[in-house]
Amino acid sequence: MITHTGGCHCGRVRFEVLAPSRLEVSECNCSICSRGGYLHLIVPAARFKLVRGADALTTYQFNTHTAKHLFCSTCGVKSFYVPRSHPDGFSVNARCLDPGTVEHMSVTQTNGREWERQYPDGRGAYPP
Ligand SMILES: [Zn+2]
Repeated sequence: MITHTGGCHCGRVRFEVLAPSRLEVSECNCSICSRGGYLHLIVPAARFKLVRGADALTTYQFNTHTAKHLFCSTCGVKSFYVPRSHPDGFSVNARCLDPGTVEHMSVTQTNGREWERQYPDGRGAYPP
């Protein structure tokens, strides 16, 4: 595990996330992830630290209102959020990580469009 850093476009939101250098990320086909081109790096809450920008975040919710979609109110970038599949953790947008620490990224597909079928237990497991 190493510390990756990242944030939004304008720099108001900055975070650190503890994850392997070879990342397993997922691409989701749901209505919001597909529109944003979001790449999910899902981690337990203990491995994520918001360094700055709590005051810059705008929350958007829809459907079950479980997920908290967090956008920088200045630049509009969603660099991390609280996903419905892991409401006790975070999903970091792998596209918002700073260059230099990611050795490799493998992308799997998540069928968020059929959420109940993708997550029959009502939530997802954490990747290793
Ligand atoms: Zn910003």
